Amino acid sequence: MRTLMSMALACICVALMAATAWIVWSSYQTRLREAGIATENMARTLASQANTAIKIADVMLDDIVERSERDGSSGQAAQRLGAHMVHLTERVPEIHGLFLYDETGAWKATSLGVPFKGDNSDRNYFIFHKTHPHSATLISAPVRSRSTGHWIIPVSRRIDHADGSFAGVALATLRLDSFERVFDSLDLGRSGTVFFALENGTLIYRRPFQEKLIGTDLSSGAVMRSYREKSQTGTLMLVAKIDGIERLYSYRRLDSYPIIVSAALSKQDIFWPWRLASAQILGAALCAIATLIWFFRKLMRQATMRDQVEMQLRAASQELEQANADLKTMAWKDGLTGLANRRAFDGKLERESRRARRDGQPLSLILLDVDYFKKFNDAYGHVAGDDCLQTIARAVASSAARGEDLVARYGGEEFAVILPGTDSAGAALVAEAVRQTVLALGIVHAGSPIGLVTVSLGVATTSDGDYHDASSTQLLQRADALLYRSKSAGRNRASA
Ligand code: GH3
Ligand code: MG
Ligand code: MG
Repeated sequence: MRTLMSMALACICVALMAATAWIVWSSYQTRLREAGIATENMARTLASQANTAIKIADVMLDDIVERSERDGSSGQAAQRLGAHMVHLTERVPEIHGLFLYDETGAWKATSLGVPFKGDNSDRNYFIFHKTHPHSATLISAPVRSRSTGHWIIPVSRRIDHADGSFAGVALATLRLDSFERVFDSLDLGRSGTVFFALENGTLIYRRPFQEKLIGTDLSSGAVMRSYREKSQTGTLMLVAKIDGIERLYSYRRLDSYPIIVSAALSKQDIFWPWRLASAQILGAALCAIATLIWFFRKLMRQATMRDQVEMQLRAASQELEQANADLKTMAWKDGLTGLANRRAFDGKLERESRRARRDGQPLSLILLDVDYFKKFNDAYGHVAGDDCLQTIARAVASSAARGEDLVARYGGEEFAVILPGTDSAGAALVAEAVRQTVLALGIVHAGSPIGLVTVSLGVATTSDGDYHDASSTQLLQRADALLYRSKSAGRNRASA
């Protein structure tokens, strides 16, 4: 029972721990999935915003290229174009400025309204367009504006002469800080990040912003590798090379431009609420298990105590039963000789006399008394007297051996034998047998005329004439009278 209960408890504890582990694991998965959705949404928002801003710049460049190829870029045409540029940029805060350079890199027109001076022929985009006929829109790594000192992203287009030779570059610059306003609105946690990179892996922008990181080559990084080798959008967990923080990155390519944008939340930020909840659930489960075990042990202790009490009770009740049995025995037995006592004798005689009358059967009674026993005590002491009585008792009992017979100690040194269904002749035989048996014991008795212990007996039977209907009392009186006769006649004899 106890083993069974212990096994049940163990099963409950294991089930509880398994359920807890399952809850913790599934909430981990849910948290990871939710974080993945959040970073994907952020990447989508950023990509859409960047795509729109670049597209606006691109459309403006289209316009400038078309006008400068048509009207040229000198004199009044340049002034008209400058005014147009101012007009264009006024309504779009993301656009930092619009510029037109001739084939030497000299400023021809700008939306900034500053005097046209300076040489941008050393800029990478300028060199690129100069050396790449038919080149499309180019997006370059951010630079610090020579005109305003702002961080800007150059978006540029080549301008051709009518013969297809290089005529200069049209440039639109996007303000990096206008992008940052969007990043500020995103919930990136304490150590989330955002980055933009060109398709070749050149870092355009990374938040938190650090000047020295611009232009870093990310092409061997996991995000760019996944972009090249797997798909244009994706989500993956990785440790950033730049700061060594593990994050969940979602990346995607801009719809119209070869730029990759990625938003990431740090693993720490994603999982701390989960860690807290898991610790609470685990704590609660452990508390529940501890309570269960405590309760179980208490129950077991109580069961042990109950068993002990039960055992003690059982032992006590056995002792009581034994004591009762002993008492019963003592109530019906004579302490010295082990024969039936006077009480048992009276009851038996009463019952047998009634039965004898009912059945018309004879009933005999022998009363016997040890001769000169006072003298025996006086001569050998009471202890020897008791031994003698015990020996005589055994001898009398062995002489009346029938199942229904009863040998009792009548009192003192007197014994009685009840013989149901025995007539006077049979009873006389029994009495004589008893007398001879006692004599044959050969117990030396100096106070007796023959030198040995003897007994005198009186034998009465109910079927004898007048006593047919006699009561037990009358039977007893008759036997006693006959015993007295034996005594008077010289003892060591039976009278019937
Ligand atoms: P009688 O032949 O006439 O029967 O003489 P008696 O001495 O046997 O008769 P009496 O009635 O004068 O004495 C009986 C004695 O039996 C008295 C008592 O000391 C002794 N006696 C009775 N019961 C016990 C007993 O349980 N143990 C011992 N040792 N002696 C007992
Ligand atoms: Mg006597
Ligand atoms: Mg006597």
